[in-house]
Amino acid sequence: MNLKSGLPFWLIKNGLASEYKTLDENIETEVLIIGSGITGALVAHFLCEEGVKCLIVDKRMESTGSTTASSAQLQYEIDVFLFDLIEKVGEENAVKAYELCLESISTLQKIIKKLKIEADFEIKSSLYLASDAKGVKDLEKEYEIRKKHKLPVTFLNQKQLKSKFNINKKAALYNDVSAQVDTYKLCQGILNHHKKHSGLVVYSHTDIIKIENKKDFIEAHTEKKNTIKAKRIVAAPGFESENILDEKVMQLNSTYVFVSKPLKDEDFWNERCLIWETARPYIYVRTTNDNRIMVGGFDEPFQDPKRRDRLMEKKNDLILKRFKKLFPESKIEVDFYWCGTFGETKDGLPFIGEHKDHPNMYFALGYGGNGITFSVIAAEMIKDMYLGKKTENIFSFDR
Ligand SMILES: Cc1cc2nc3c(=O)[nH]c(=O)nc-3n(C[C@H](O)[C@H](O)[C@H](O)COP(=O)(O)OP(=O)(O)OC[C@H]3O[C@@H](n4cnc5c(N)ncnc54)[C@H](O)[C@@H]3O)c2cc1C
Repeated sequence: MNLKSGLPFWLIKNGLASEYKTLDENIETEVLIIGSGITGALVAHFLCEEGVKCLIVDKRMESTGSTTASSAQLQYEIDVFLFDLIEKVGEENAVKAYELCLESISTLQKIIKKLKIEADFEIKSSLYLASDAKGVKDLEKEYEIRKKHKLPVTFLNQKQLKSKFNINKKAALYNDVSAQVDTYKLCQGILNHHKKHSGLVVYSHTDIIKIENKKDFIEAHTEKKNTIKAKRIVAAPGFESENILDEKVMQLNSTYVFVSKPLKDEDFWNERCLIWETARPYIYVRTTNDNRIMVGGFDEPFQDPKRRDRLMEKKNDLILKRFKKLFPESKIEVDFYWCGTFGETKDGLPFIGEHKDHPNMYFALGYGGNGITFSVIAAEMIKDMYLGKKTENIFSFDR
């Protein structure tokens, strides 16, 4: 599948991995991880920390799937309002999902600190803006339910928004527990650390085309006719799960992003907070540590890469216009733009764990706007499952 087009900023900024190898023999490992994106890297991290021997394969160059296209905002609030999620999965599970996302941001911060990774990680504040009158009503309702469950949230009215952020909207939800990161740098940092310290091996350009369960092990077959024998396989294939998982569990969409030319310090808004809005489709805004603004959104509910790419310039203009409506005096100018595919589930939650049709495998499918926070949750849960620890799984396939 063609996952992205255009010029994804992180890849341009950081460049490809300096060394890589391709599998050209039959090998054995304890756990085989399919996918070297942020999900596969985090799964490897948690397992390697427990002394589990891991091997990662990727059909692309290391970490160059959706992870390079990501705008990498880390938020505990998912695309589905908590009050809506309660309708879909019940109050206990909905609140638990929000709490796990919140916790995953500090888990990631601790990993980055422990492994001493330079990934431009920064705790940020976040504004969820009401786009219209319905948005105001939704945010009021959302505020009450989040407050009831002690989730970090502040309600800002029009006057407060104007005076603090110079934004002309009727209302917003604010929190200061969000974050932003350079996902590609983070992913590469985790992989490089464990290659050096835990014997992790990563094979690029190694496509898994078939998986077979044998009596005492599971075997993956590569396109180049090599086999990898393992005790367990973790599938972290991002939005390309359809070749590995028989069941269709998500809808694929297209999304668009640009990054501006660097600006002066005085050209930014207060706190350089993350910004998104209640309109659907919405735009989201973040900044980078080299003084750029990254704006994305205007999703389309289809995946066809040709159709997606034809819309790139038009979407870019629309996103820029929407941004300028928010900040009419901004000196923003587009530098690079790109687009990507992303998956969404019916309830907005990821799928994690075992699937009845695929024995000896775990799936880490963090579908939704919060893919990275879901990756953290999935990786830690799969480590516990592999170690035989009791896990409460609200993201299972049979939920
Ligand atoms: C434009 C855009 C903006 C986004 N913004 C955000 C955001 O702000 N915040 C957020 O949390 N999330 C965001 N996301 C989502 C987030 O980027 C993804 O959830 C995350 O990067 C997925 O990581 P992954 O490792 O699961 O997938 P990937 O990075 O795609 O990695 C999976 C890897 O598996 C490999 N693979 C697949 N099948 C096989 C196979 N059969 N054999 C071998 N290898 C295989 C692929 O080559 C790929 O490299 C965004 C996504 C996009 C596209």
